[in-house]
Amino acid sequence: MDEVTRIIRGCEGDRQLVRTPAPLMQRGSTIFLDDSSQVYDKSLLTYGRSGLATHAALRSALADLEGAEDAFLFPSGLSAITGTIQALVSTGEEILLCDSVYGPTRQFVDGTMARFGVGARYFRADASVAEIEALIGANTRLIFLESPGSLTFEVQDIPAIAAMAKSRGIRTAIDNTYAAGVLFKPLAHGIDVSIQSLTKYVCGHSDVLMGSAAASGDVAALLARSGAEVGWYVSPDDAYLALRGLKTLHARLARHGLSALRVARWLESRAEVRRVLCPALPGFGTHDLWKRDFSGACGLLGMVLAPEYGKRVGQFIKGLQLFGLGFSWGGFESLVLPCDPQLVARAHGSDCEGPLLRLHIGLEATEDLIEDLARALSALSDGGSGAGHFCDRHKGDSGLIPEAEAGRHLSI
Ligand SMILES: *Cc1c(COP(=O)(O)O)cnc(C)c1O
Repeated sequence: MDEVTRIIRGCEGDRQLVRTPAPLMQRGSTIFLDDSSQVYDKSLLTYGRSGLATHAALRSALADLEGAEDAFLFPSGLSAITGTIQALVSTGEEILLCDSVYGPTRQFVDGTMARFGVGARYFRADASVAEIEALIGANTRLIFLESPGSLTFEVQDIPAIAAMAKSRGIRTAIDNTYAAGVLFKPLAHGIDVSIQSLTKYVCGHSDVLMGSAAASGDVAALLARSGAEVGWYVSPDDAYLALRGLKTLHARLARHGLSALRVARWLESRAEVRRVLCPALPGFGTHDLWKRDFSGACGLLGMVLAPEYGKRVGQFIKGLQLFGLGFSWGGFESLVLPCDPQLVARAHGSDCEGPLLRLHIGLEATEDLIEDLARALSALSDGGSGAGHFCDRHKGDSGLIPEAEAGRHLSI
């Protein structure tokens, strides 16, 4: 054979793989078939867009995590949300959504879905089941939830909403990114589709975008069919990174949660902070629902500053050295985000009495993060004397709080 042919065919390499701790990494668009009767056989894998070995390993791990028969992969968390909605509603039908949904979810529903003749109405994130049921009309097809909301953290009574929806023949989907598939199990509580931005805790290192939707039975069949028609696909390299993230997910999440709870308690003691939004705090409005349904908290929390600091939020953020300013969360690093512009879009407004900031508590030593916050808060209120005070009280601490103090079993 000519050198060109030899080199091209030689690159196929040896097909016998040895066993390693890491999953198989398989790339491919074309799949070689053994005989022509297989080419149009829909029961076989015949094209790479359906996913190969790496995708299959990730899908089965995510399905296991979510307690679902199947999990579908999407190129981002947002496309997992839009893909699920597209799969479950049609022109002339209507979606009910909690008002605390992720902003781009609202934009898709109010934009693309509206253009295709799908209606939408929003209920307060703390609406009772009876209030939600009262909104149901003849064309309501889907209830879309997010609990806790990723800016204001209201927890919804998911089992009761799911049971009510089921009794009315309405499907339910939830953005389960906060729980990372670990801290809350939507399908076990009667929800039809559990959606995650894997970009956050599953991938965990702020370097991959991906999403998933987990479901069983006829809902899984609808997602499979719509996904194949639309052509969603993720790269096997990214799927591999998600599999890598899954191996340390429970350990990272437990640490994020403990650290965030400690920061939340400390923030509660600060005069500059009017309110801390963290469902794991006993004083938080929907803490009891969280305690009943969740096995722990993640690293995300909100804080409402006293209203007099409204004009100095930028200064506070500039004063932080360990908290990066940016969107997203779930990575190893701590982040801060001013949230007020995002609250404006809500149908029912927001009851934050001052500027709302969101913190993602990363894996850095907790005492360093608290010291950073202390310095920046003190600069707001009294020109910077608070950091030393904090050091006196907390230095020498291990950075981890005992499980008993966490007040809640955080599953590892
Ligand atoms: C980030 C996020 C998404 C979107 O995920 P991407 O992977 O960034 O597209 C959806 N829902 C919530 C709650 C998020 O925080």
